[in-house]
Amino acid sequence: MLATACRSLRSQPRRYLCLRQLISTRQFPSARQFSTLNPLLSDINFEDAEHKYSSTVILPKSDFGNRSNAKLIESTLKPQATSQLYEWNIKRDVKNNDLNNLFILHDGPPYANGDLHIGHALNKILKDIIIRFQLLEGKKVHYKPGWDCHGLPIELKTLEKLGKERKQEIKKLKKQLKEGADVKDELESLEHQRLSSLDIIRLSKQHALATQKVQSQSFQEMGIMGDFQHPYLTLHRSFVINQLKIFKKLFDHGLIHRQEKPVYWGCENATALAEGELEYNNKHESKTAYVKFPISKLGNKLSATLGSGQFPRLSALIWTSTPWTLASNKAICVNQRYKYTVLTSDEDGQLIVGTELKDSIKELKPELKETGIEFSGADLLDCTYTNPLLEEGSEFPFLHGSHVTNITGTALVHTAPGHGQDDYLVCLKNGIKPYSPVDHRGRYTSELPSTLADFIGLKVLGEGNDKMLERLKELQMCFARNDHYIHSYPYDWRSKKPIIIRATPQWFIDVSKIKEVTTKALQERVHFHPEKGSKRLISFINNRNEWCISRQRSWGVPIPVLYKKDTGEPFLNDEVIQKVTEVIEKEDIDSWFEENDDMSKWFPDNFTAGNPDDYVKGKDTMDVWFDSGSSWRVIEKYLEEEGLVEQAHHRGYLADIYLEGSDQHRGWFQSSLLTKVGSSDLDKKIVLPYRTIVTHGFTLDEKGEKMSKSLGNTVLPRDILNGNKQLKIPSLGIDGLRLWVAQSDYSSDVSVGPTVLKHVGENLKKIRFTFKFLLGNLNDFNASTDSVAYEELDNLDRYVLSETYNLERSCLQSYKAFNYSKIVKDVNHFVNSVLSSIYFDVRKDCLYTDHPKSLKRRATQTVLTEILRTLESVLCPILPIITQEVWNSSSGDVTQGLASPFMLQWHTVDNSFHRPDLEQDFKSLFSLRNRIKVLTDTAMRKDKNVRNSLETVVYVTVNDEQSDLYNLLKKYEQGMDDYLLVSKFVLNGDRIPTADYNYEDVSAEIDDLGNCKINVVKSDKLKCPRCWKFTRDEGDELCDRCNDVVDHL
Ligand SMILES: [Zn+2]
Repeated sequence: MLATACRSLRSQPRRYLCLRQLISTRQFPSARQFSTLNPLLSDINFEDAEHKYSSTVILPKSDFGNRSNAKLIESTLKPQATSQLYEWNIKRDVKNNDLNNLFILHDGPPYANGDLHIGHALNKILKDIIIRFQLLEGKKVHYKPGWDCHGLPIELKTLEKLGKERKQEIKKLKKQLKEGADVKDELESLEHQRLSSLDIIRLSKQHALATQKVQSQSFQEMGIMGDFQHPYLTLHRSFVINQLKIFKKLFDHGLIHRQEKPVYWGCENATALAEGELEYNNKHESKTAYVKFPISKLGNKLSATLGSGQFPRLSALIWTSTPWTLASNKAICVNQRYKYTVLTSDEDGQLIVGTELKDSIKELKPELKETGIEFSGADLLDCTYTNPLLEEGSEFPFLHGSHVTNITGTALVHTAPGHGQDDYLVCLKNGIKPYSPVDHRGRYTSELPSTLADFIGLKVLGEGNDKMLERLKELQMCFARNDHYIHSYPYDWRSKKPIIIRATPQWFIDVSKIKEVTTKALQERVHFHPEKGSKRLISFINNRNEWCISRQRSWGVPIPVLYKKDTGEPFLNDEVIQKVTEVIEKEDIDSWFEENDDMSKWFPDNFTAGNPDDYVKGKDTMDVWFDSGSSWRVIEKYLEEEGLVEQAHHRGYLADIYLEGSDQHRGWFQSSLLTKVGSSDLDKKIVLPYRTIVTHGFTLDEKGEKMSKSLGNTVLPRDILNGNKQLKIPSLGIDGLRLWVAQSDYSSDVSVGPTVLKHVGENLKKIRFTFKFLLGNLNDFNASTDSVAYEELDNLDRYVLSETYNLERSCLQSYKAFNYSKIVKDVNHFVNSVLSSIYFDVRKDCLYTDHPKSLKRRATQTVLTEILRTLESVLCPILPIITQEVWNSSSGDVTQGLASPFMLQWHTVDNSFHRPDLEQDFKSLFSLRNRIKVLTDTAMRKDKNVRNSLETVVYVTVNDEQSDLYNLLKKYEQGMDDYLLVSKFVLNGDRIPTADYNYEDVSAEIDDLGNCKINVVKSDKLKCPRCWKFTRDEGDELCDRCNDVVDHL
């Protein structure tokens, strides 16, 4: 009765409700309500009869709950599905000691600072799905989580903390001083005391370790499986030692050098910045100027062209968006292939400009007149000019620069080798040294010439620039200016402030020497998902000639260089690096930053070239990308321990997969590759850090906006795990968070918010009810003894097996292609369209009311077992918690006594179950079913003639008995009443009986098989109190089938 009552809910739009109703009896109309509504039941006492037979109906039974149970998850399911499973996995030997049976996903270390955001969840869950699938494929998996611990953000936090502490201390002392205490000296010394590197290191380390612990906990709360007991941290001594060894190899290969070069410089944090640390602001406003530099000497060709003495006030006109760099001007670049001309006016004299640009310059001052003179850029190369900002008598050259264009400006380019990359390269070629009289805070220094002494100490990005513009005006050098020039300009990604370019001595890796071999290896041997990543990474490497690896910070791995105290000359060789590494290995990194220590210990034992006390330790630390970029060594070490490193070197890569956000093409993917290739012996086959790179997009809110605290649209992982009423986010638990990740197309940006999460929650419920239905109806079934052979299955069973096969194949392909959203889509379709609305709907009558051991019921259970195994296998990488719960509730013939579905490996559905012919047949039968349903729905909803489709009989008349439709229906005639959920199905009956109602579709075209007439009429039989079908004859207590079942119980 339960079964049939439930059918009245069939038409509910949310199909899974039907499944839920199946398992809960409370919401059904009571038998009394039902019988009083239906006069045809009056010949027997329906309520009594129903009660009498209720114990003969087999209700689904299992200990699997309607909802997930938080307590059970914490105490049992999560440990089983994560830590215990990983432990089991990692203790196993690699099968046959064959590297192909080991799968390594190397973790890109998140930064040990701040709380986890939803992007972290996306990243870690994708990784977890990948390794779980590999585990299911029978491999041993290795996943060691890592953390990036050094670097500026942590150091800044520490400085802030130390600063606050000091402020409070100063405040306290000042108060005491006022009160008459003798603390003046103490106060003074505190006010002038520099924060020591060791203080910064100590606190930064504390902060990193504490954050790492919290983040690790949070990752485990997401059901992430891995070696959380032994993570790798870039602050670990062993990690630092490995990094120094890699540095040494790069040095040995001649790839490390020091140079005074212009580098990107963040003035707020007083450090050099890598390209990867820049953000371009398209709306940056600069003050720009056209500036005149008087010509001091004309070359031979140009004097001939111009005629001597004709142009007494001849100047070269340049344009700059960084007027503050004019103090460092060393040359003007022209392009020798371009034509140049002279414009003239009373006010400005004669101006040399690029011919192509003369019109745009004339627009600035219409009084300018053309002279008609034209000459080649090459003619300027033996001329000189003066810079009136400096002392009189200084002369500077014109140089050819291929970077000079004639699209904007004047085609004459102000060149300051201390403040620009192109400028630097051109000057280098011409023997001009970089000059940058700007300090680490971006202020002019005393290196400025005496004429600019009043600029010393001014910030070049502020008052220094303004003063320079004023000075240009005073000296009549300014031709025109624009104080609101909007253009794209690099900013420091941390301070969000514009950067400058400044020449300082820095340490570099020479990328140019290894980029060809690197990009070749990438092209030939690395797989990318999505594929576009390949081009990106290759172009990033191709566009890079060097990597500035020194940073002027304390919280990091030191660059192991000693410097001569008096000259500042670096002292670096193989032995020094070796020695420094040894000392740090023995004493830890702190000893390098100790200020008053015995210098002799840092020198090689055989050092005789001087007194160690004449040297100091370098203060630069390494770019943190070098830290994380060295982490491939963690994997190599593991392979060494497993005795598999030879095999790895032979196959040419260490880890199977690196997976990170797409911004890591310019970050970690690249730094890992460069440190690996740079430290390799280039004569041998290069071992790459990875074989496959998978990238994901970023997380956005539902409107596609970036999440930010100020917009209030931030969704945190815990909001999804535990729910957040304010954000209207339901509590979805571990599986819900993971299902959201899996259903997202992560190859581009992924959105998250209440709507999508509500949808995820509904999907998860459907999956739970499906499992509950399967487990509940299999509780009296033993697959090893009760299974029914394929030949004895009904066609509907076979059809469903074929769909199960399709699901398994498709999901397997999708896992291999990292396409998880397809898996979720396929599972949803299977659960809703194949199971909930067809197979379960049709078969619950058999499951509940047939004889427990009837062939049909056992056949159904055989199919349900196959479905259970398949869904369990297909879903366990994505939903490890619910599948573990299902596993724990499954019988031993399903679990084979193993503790986890992963131990049984991927469940392959027998390919003999694949029946495209049946899929085609049922597709047409369901078309017919839908046509009939339209009529039944009218009868039920609109006219309220029918409460349940079981009250009806369906007559289908096919006039053309040669048609495909007739043949199809003839073939399936026997089971059609079941498939249609009606009491009786009649094909081409002699006559349609006259009944209380008759809903007719006179011409229904079913696919392209043919035409039929459909009549839905009232059954002339009575309702059976046991199965609720209208198949009972008057005077009988039960229908024939139920009678038979009850007799044989
Ligand atoms: Zn019956």
